[in-house]
Amino acid sequence: MDGGGLGNRPLAEVDPEVSALIAKEKQRQVYGLELIASENFTSRAVMDALGSCFTNKYSEGYPGRRYYGGTEVVDELERLVQQRALELFGLDAAQWAVNVQPYSGTPANFAVYTALLKPHDRLMGLGLSSGGHLTHGFYTAKGKRVSATSIYFESLPYQVDPHTGYVDYDRLEQLALLYRPRLLLCGASAYPREWDYARMRSIADAVGARLMCDMAHYSGMVAAGELASPFPYCDVVTTTTHKSLRGPRQGVIFCRREHEQEVNEAVFPGCQGGPHNATMAALGVALREAATPEFRAYQKQVRANARALAAALLQRGYTLVTGGTDTHLVMWDLRPQGLGGNKMQKLCDACDITLNMNAVAGDTSALNPGGVRIGTPALTSRGFVEGDFEQVAELLHRAAQVALQIQDRTGKKLADFEKALPGNAAVQQLRDDVHNFAGRFGMPG
Ligand code: PLP
Repeated sequence: MDGGGLGNRPLAEVDPEVSALIAKEKQRQVYGLELIASENFTSRAVMDALGSCFTNKYSEGYPGRRYYGGTEVVDELERLVQQRALELFGLDAAQWAVNVQPYSGTPANFAVYTALLKPHDRLMGLGLSSGGHLTHGFYTAKGKRVSATSIYFESLPYQVDPHTGYVDYDRLEQLALLYRPRLLLCGASAYPREWDYARMRSIADAVGARLMCDMAHYSGMVAAGELASPFPYCDVVTTTTHKSLRGPRQGVIFCRREHEQEVNEAVFPGCQGGPHNATMAALGVALREAATPEFRAYQKQVRANARALAAALLQRGYTLVTGGTDTHLVMWDLRPQGLGGNKMQKLCDACDITLNMNAVAGDTSALNPGGVRIGTPALTSRGFVEGDFEQVAELLHRAAQVALQIQDRTGKKLADFEKALPGNAAVQQLRDDVHNFAGRFGMPG
């Protein structure tokens, strides 16, 4: 065999275009400030496993019960990853099963609904504008069913209290008693506080519902003991593995043993085909990393950084949903400044600060939301500590001020605002300062 043939040549030689884009993306990650709450920088070891020969292998089915030959090594891998997943969250294998095949968080959630519900059964999750996720049953104010969850099942979202920003459990209970869902969901994408799992359980019990937690955002903090564990209260727990858990992009479903068969059948063959084995291998690596004291220290720092960021923004007179945070994220309400979350996101993008616009408590439109969501996991992986996040807060404050000045000149229309960004001296200065600051820190991977 010709060792220099197509199958063994390096990426830069085979595909200089993709290779250049990878290098460009790396530059963007290194010189920018990554504040998207659902992102992280995974390790070199995780990336090595992601790029491994496991990507070549088909293994429909489960360990010991496959539809293809040659799966003896994949079987070992899947069993190892399952064992690590259960151990990381302190779960007794006699009571809990785990499925490590879901391609991502959305398919994981859909597989759970497929397992536990019949088409058009009812579920209740936190509303999108209150911080919930699309997969928890979102439909628009005009009733358009947007996610597959709301297309195939009936959902009645519950909300946070528009004044306090906390989940309104009393109202949730009243609604649940009327609506009588089969499945009650907790966990969210943009909620800065701890969940009251005991209360969720008692509401679920009162209406005969199963309780599911989607801990995608904060599973890393649960693993490290930094946030309360949903497991003692829930029937099913799902997570993505690429957020605070700092692994590859995948999903995981934990369920009580009584649901194991229906959950496994819903994942494969119900909703998926062959598992992505290289990703599963990378997940195994991430789970091993997550079991270390270094990872626990990292999660502690993630929280400390979020608190430092919150305090620094409050000190500058800004408003935060719930007035602060218990977790890895801060919800910054920009309505008092008269600045839309979309303009803040555009301005930050122009300065290589990456965050996302987000609805804040009391908002009605997800497309023109009143705030932004800011998370600390990614930069904490680069070694940022509290003092660094105080500087991040100062850069964000400058970004908001520049955005307001531009808005004063261009008026409220987003298109006019965007046109004014290129070539703006204050934007350029801020971007230079961001690059100089971010470039000083290391980068995993
Ligand atoms: N669940 C929650 C709470 C999320 O925040 C997200 C994504 O942000 C998902 C599920 C979906 O995950 P994925 O994007 O991997 O499908």
